[in-house]
Amino acid sequence: MPHRAAAAEDRPRKGQLFVVSAPSGAGKTTLCNAVRRQFSDLAYSVSYTTRKPRKGEQHGKDYFFVTGEEFEEGISRGRWAEWARVHGNLYGTSAQWIADTLTNGRDILLDIDVQGTRQILQRFPEAITIFIRPPSLEALRQRLLERGTDDHAAVELRLINARHEMAQQHLYRHILVNDDLHRATREMIALFEAYR
Ligand code: 5GP
Repeated sequence: MPHRAAAAEDRPRKGQLFVVSAPSGAGKTTLCNAVRRQFSDLAYSVSYTTRKPRKGEQHGKDYFFVTGEEFEEGISRGRWAEWARVHGNLYGTSAQWIADTLTNGRDILLDIDVQGTRQILQRFPEAITIFIRPPSLEALRQRLLERGTDDHAAVELRLINARHEMAQQHLYRHILVNDDLHRATREMIALFEAYR
């Protein structure tokens, strides 16, 4: 007797891909951390970057910090599901890790920029994309200066980038304005709950 095709309910559930982008300083890390606390089974993709670690950042937890040569080799070997140059540094997501994690039925949170999101949408058109925006560019400038992790030149570079990113927010399925952190956190968690 031929085997019957596995019914949809027999097949293991494949994970979902959530993509979150925001201009830096829009509160993305805080909101993503709240989501990660709320949904402890959500797999967070640790990106590879050629950027130098900031104070307190840990290799393997915040990023995998690699050399330019290692990153370039990853490009030629097709190791990245997406990669981009952001603020002068290279960032990429492991294609193997995404494939394995989705196959294992786990949902994934990707914190990547707009260029990366375009590439992810080509590979995974069903990805759930969320853009977090600050109330205004001026508010963003204030936040970046208060954060104090970048000098003035770096802040200006991030603002130029923010303007470009804001102009592409239409790519995203959901747009969340972070003018009040408590409200934005509630909205973000509700959004994930709706899909999971
Ligand atoms: P930061 O250097 O401030 O941690 O991150 C700068 C920007 O790079 C952020 O917008 C962040 O979302 C983005 N980014 C981090 N990892 C990746 C990645 O793997 N791919 C892409 N395309 N962007 C990333």
